[in-house]
Amino acid sequence: MVRDIKSLSADDLEAQFRDWKQPAYRASQVMEWLYTHRVTSWDAMTNLPKPLRELLRENYALRTLELVRKQGARDTTQKFLWRLADQALIESVVIPANPALYGEASDRHTLCVSTQVGCAYGCKFCASGLEGWKRNLRADEIVEQVLATERWHASEEAKPAEVEGAPRAKAAATDSRFINNLVIMGMGEPLANYDNLLQALKILNAPWGGGIGARKITISTSGLAPQIRKLADDPLQFRLAISLHGATDETRNKIMPVNRKYPLAELTAACDYYQQKKERMITLEYILIAGVNDALAETKPLAELAHRLHAKVNLIPYNRVEDLNWERPTEAVQEAFLAALEKQRVIATLRREKGHDIDAACGQLRLKTERELATQQT
Ligand code: SAH
Ligand code: SF4
Repeated sequence: MVRDIKSLSADDLEAQFRDWKQPAYRASQVMEWLYTHRVTSWDAMTNLPKPLRELLRENYALRTLELVRKQGARDTTQKFLWRLADQALIESVVIPANPALYGEASDRHTLCVSTQVGCAYGCKFCASGLEGWKRNLRADEIVEQVLATERWHASEEAKPAEVEGAPRAKAAATDSRFINNLVIMGMGEPLANYDNLLQALKILNAPWGGGIGARKITISTSGLAPQIRKLADDPLQFRLAISLHGATDETRNKIMPVNRKYPLAELTAACDYYQQKKERMITLEYILIAGVNDALAETKPLAELAHRLHAKVNLIPYNRVEDLNWERPTEAVQEAFLAALEKQRVIATLRREKGHDIDAACGQLRLKTERELATQQT
């Protein structure tokens, strides 16, 4: 398959232009078209000579994501279902800022991006793993989730205002940035697609690319210990979230098969290493599932772990997945779990979910759409 231009770093692109005996400023022009103006065709790059546009067209693909379905309203959680060139479906979710969660200002938007089609890790509660793993996303497919969301936002801004008397959006808004934070918590296990993920994040982080600060990028993993160590050795200062969901091997083994490969002792040793290298706080994600991991007795080992790793805990009430028999605990149980952690001096938050009614947990919209498509075909 022809390589997509959006999987190239600035160095790659400059090297290519040197090979072609093109001046370096031409590479900068291409990057500006791709990441500032977010164009979707070579012909839109109007300040490039036509023969150069042809050369680019012959050597590189310029693929975009096709929006299949969108759920949610402006200023709430919005979920995008995209179709890739090979027809596979993936999701991204825009989450308006929740300052309590990751400490961002309230005019910010976070994009949750996918890194694989499906997931091989098969956590028992998760929709993404239900139908197995299909393939890794390439770097450009990860980058494009941000660009396509920003293009969608710009087109919305450019629409005439529906409310009479409301000010019309300025044309300049199309180049402004909508996404300021990234969480790598969509479909797939990001650290199982390490090289493509890192290449994409370098592009999204670079000033010539997405311009999103490394500290505004959180990578979530189900616990791939060796890759956590590898990430610790990377110079970029990404934030790390661990999908813990159980603070003992006994609880974790019940719901996360990955724990048999990398049990807690190995996972926490890798987290220690990350913490020492980066000197930044790790987040422990903990979904509360009724009768599985929500007993108050679980807060003791969880608090011990959080203290040892200098980590904060994000409690997330479980989102129901069709076909799975797991339930979220009552609000009283959720609040009691939070209070017990706080009593043990753990920094903890309880996500009072914004996206519950639109299948916001990863993989759910895709699953639903694939099933609907399958029923239509039979
Ligand atoms: N594979 C990575 C990142 C994607 S999953 C990981 O596991 O961390 C992102 C987060 O969504 C994880 O914390 C995951 O456990 C959580 N999640 C999955 N299904 C969920 C559900 N039904 N309700 C709430 N959170 C869910
Ligand atoms: Fe995969 Fe993460 Fe879902 Fe587990 S929770 S199946 S690792 S996407």
